[in-house]
Amino acid sequence: MIGNLPRPREWIAGAKPYRTESQAAEVRLQSNEWTEPTPLARYLTPRDLEDTLVNRYPDIAAAELRALLARRWGVTPEQIILGNGSNEVLLYTFLVFGGSDRTLLVFTPTYTMYARLARLTGMRVHEEGVGLPYMFDAARVREAIARVRPHVVCFSSPNNPTGDVIDDATILAAADTPLTLVLVDEAYAEFSGHSFLPRIVDRANVVVARTFSKAQAAAGLRLGALVADRRVAAMYEAARLPYNVSTLTQLVASRIVADDTRLAQRVVNITGERARVERELLTLPELESFPSAANFVLFRHRTMAATALHASLLERGVLVRDVSSWRDAGESLRATIGSRTENDRLLEALRDVLAERSR
Ligand code: PMP
Repeated sequence: MIGNLPRPREWIAGAKPYRTESQAAEVRLQSNEWTEPTPLARYLTPRDLEDTLVNRYPDIAAAELRALLARRWGVTPEQIILGNGSNEVLLYTFLVFGGSDRTLLVFTPTYTMYARLARLTGMRVHEEGVGLPYMFDAARVREAIARVRPHVVCFSSPNNPTGDVIDDATILAAADTPLTLVLVDEAYAEFSGHSFLPRIVDRANVVVARTFSKAQAAAGLRLGALVADRRVAAMYEAARLPYNVSTLTQLVASRIVADDTRLAQRVVNITGERARVERELLTLPELESFPSAANFVLFRHRTMAATALHASLLERGVLVRDVSSWRDAGESLRATIGSRTENDRLLEALRDVLAERSR
């Protein structure tokens, strides 16, 4: 007992903070950010700084930004819910559809935040093990749903940490289940050239999450969005905190949305570098790597533990993400695709570690 403190909610009592890799390193390929600088000055003029007043609350409806995003995504502004990063709209999903006596179904390895947020609201979590390679189909989804009888199913597409796009038929198998909410997290969709968004029309039980943290190169801005049926969006709006998207975020994001040319260039750049890194990884027989549609690649050493390989890369100045603690990820590491120079540093460090081991 701590003083007169009541017990925290059950799951929190044993929970630890979400873990990220925070070690210092020259080459930081651990968080799937866009690694080249996005200075705010690219989007704000000195005049903007004078005209942007922070003594007042932001536009609670973020009307201008939602209108811009709605046009991009071919939906109406009232179908869009914004959050302080897409993690916040994920949380709202569980505030609206989670809670005790309900079950989340995920296919692992996948982004760990779904299970975490679900448990935070008291949900049961069923982690259906897929493993590596991350391959499953509509039949597997139907079978798991019949067995687990979930209220919420989350897919990450492309999947963090494997990079696989979940095909539409697989998602539709979940969407066709009565009384089930399906969340399709498309944090990395721009890199894959595929989206489930066009299919949510007439499917009120499917919601799609997007973010500005990856292809939009603005992880520090903290903006995420959820696209949903108008009636479902109204439920989310009831859960949303007032003023959760700051005046500055609304303004800068509106400018970023208009900056299509840069987005297209970034996607071309990443897909080219990704193909190059994947080819190079295939030349290293000690490693097994998995093809990715996102801005990262997953790989593992055939005999060396993930923690050891991670430490050896860090000694050479390269920080990647050790995902070996994620359920069903095995001894894998995930590396963000960065600039050409950064990717070369990763490849050099890997070759160096492998050469040292074979000596
Ligand atoms: N979804 C997935 C699949 C992610 O990998 C991440 C970031 N690692 C997020 C959501 C959350 O990103 P943000 O809150 O920055 O939008």
